[in-house]
Amino acid sequence: MKSCAGAEKKLVALSRSKIIGKASEEWRHDGLCQNLESPIAGCDLCANNKLRFAFLIQNQTTHEKMWVGAGCLLRFQIPIYSGGVRVPAHRARDHLAELVQMLVTQEAMARCTMAAMEQQHSALAEAIIQYRMHGRVTVFEASLIFSAVEKANMLTSDVVLPIYLRREEDLEQLRAIPRWSLWRFWHCLKAEQVQLALLCGHKAPTTEHSKLVRYQRQTDTKPQEDCLGKID
Ligand SMILES: [Zn+2]
Repeated sequence: MKSCAGAEKKLVALSRSKIIGKASEEWRHDGLCQNLESPIAGCDLCANNKLRFAFLIQNQTTHEKMWVGAGCLLRFQIPIYSGGVRVPAHRARDHLAELVQMLVTQEAMARCTMAAMEQQHSALAEAIIQYRMHGRVTVFEASLIFSAVEKANMLTSDVVLPIYLRREEDLEQLRAIPRWSLWRFWHCLKAEQVQLALLCGHKAPTTEHSKLVRYQRQTDTKPQEDCLGKID
């Protein structure tokens, strides 16, 4: 691939070693990643100019810096560090996915915070505070947050929040939540929580996401269970 050969050349040019395998080892990524919020950034190594997430890499010998995409980071096996500890090569892909997940969640929470302030939505503000304090939310809090995420035109499936589902009142919330509302964060439920949801009479989402989002936008203000037939 032309872009790949070009990227290799560039990486070597900015490194001391002129052998690609050794040159890669001079670089490291320390966890600094930019979320551009839409695919607008270019990779400093290859021809990819549709990056939403750009990762900073720095050469430990020449001190050169570059913003690159996850593809180049993985392709050239640039050492990745987390909290000063090197991430094993077999974990690299998952580690980057987790990093991106965290950034998307941060972005979603920032947008929800703005919405809560603009609309003076105290229940939403409270839900966000609970998440920031405990790193998890109840079913009710999740329903508020994911509704706000969707209104902010973000894909709910990109955002993952741990759901707290242990107390009797949590189960009551699970029984009471409309099915379509739970579907917004069905992907956040752990296997045992999915079982609980099924026991409470919920069904796993069967509809493709875009259809579901469209339906949810139309019905968010006045949810009607009987309308669900339209999207099955
Ligand atoms: Zn690249």
